Amino acid sequence: MASPRIEIDLQKISHNVKTLLNHFASKGIAIIGVTKGVGGNTDIAKTLIKSGIKILADSRIQNIKKMKCAGISVPFILLRTPLKSELEEVLDNCYISHNTEYSIIENLSELASKRGLIHKIILMVELGDLRDGITPSQLPGMVAKVQKLEGVEIVGIGTNLACFAGVKPDHINMGKLSDLATDMEKVLGYKLMYISGGNSANYDWMVQTNNVRNINYMRLGESIYLGCNALTRIPIPGLYTNAFTLVAEVIESGTKPSVPTGEIFQNAFGEKLHFEDKGMLKRVILGIGKQDVDPSGLKPRMDFQIIGSGSDHLIIDTKNTAIEVGKELKFDLNYSSLLAGMTSSYVVKTKLIPLKQNEFSRIL
Ligand SMILES: *Cc1c(COP(=O)(O)O)cnc(C)c1O
Repeated sequence: MASPRIEIDLQKISHNVKTLLNHFASKGIAIIGVTKGVGGNTDIAKTLIKSGIKILADSRIQNIKKMKCAGISVPFILLRTPLKSELEEVLDNCYISHNTEYSIIENLSELASKRGLIHKIILMVELGDLRDGITPSQLPGMVAKVQKLEGVEIVGIGTNLACFAGVKPDHINMGKLSDLATDMEKVLGYKLMYISGGNSANYDWMVQTNNVRNINYMRLGESIYLGCNALTRIPIPGLYTNAFTLVAEVIESGTKPSVPTGEIFQNAFGEKLHFEDKGMLKRVILGIGKQDVDPSGLKPRMDFQIIGSGSDHLIIDTKNTAIEVGKELKFDLNYSSLLAGMTSSYVVKTKLIPLKQNEFSRIL
């Protein structure tokens, strides 16, 4: 089979979706499925929908177009404020877009009016994480200005935490979002459809809170795919953490010293490495590298250690196990590696054959 490849277990993804839908529904929150972490993979998108998700979201218009071309007909949300150069495509392909810049909304308004349509927008607010977002003090002014525009309609408010700075979603920032939503509804004179509280990092907040107030949506990617809490990377009970497997092939196998020979300067990537003398090592080189995944986000499924990587090579200490050239090794991927691997054209994506129902429950 072709390698490197990512083996995708759609049944495990489906199980994770259904479990998360139930958890969040018990608090009155619906889930928007985020596909950017898997490059808008159409098999995965279809699985999300079959498992009960009604709306998909992605940060890239290319991914949204790909999913639409594959016949996926649910509403799509563009997660990132639109690029000025892609506004026509946003109107063509997105039911809703997240927005933070007035000039972009104004442009959307002009283009949408010309076409005689109304584009829906969710205003994203900055509540501490310092990535994208309108600051709460600027929000009333923004709402007042946008309300006057034709061709666009504010349908929601959202925030995104724990993405850039790692700020934890808690009762304070979630409470602030609820308050801002209520204030906005008063100004607008109608109820917002989407009060979109956050991402996979909101899991603990959801479990612990006994009052989500008016927050009614979460946008989930990582917890569906990797089964973990994105704040701590601790597995969420009852979810699979191994729906994705990276497989790479051994291209060289042998014994080499653990310390290089000669004077050490920067390597190809501008790093200066330090080497501990562990004597001679049994090591293998795999045909995968930084062009394919983020090697620092890989975890061997066997008790091996990653020594380092180049653009096309991954060097592994096999801890005295001899492995033949041509054999395949398996790895877990973290979010960063999954993101890179799923978008790399060098990495083949394969679907695993579904397990029989009884095997499924046994593994669980
Ligand atoms: C990526 C992204 C998400 C999904 O985040 P996960 O941690 O994968 O759940 C949600 N909202 C926005 C705005 C995003 O950019």
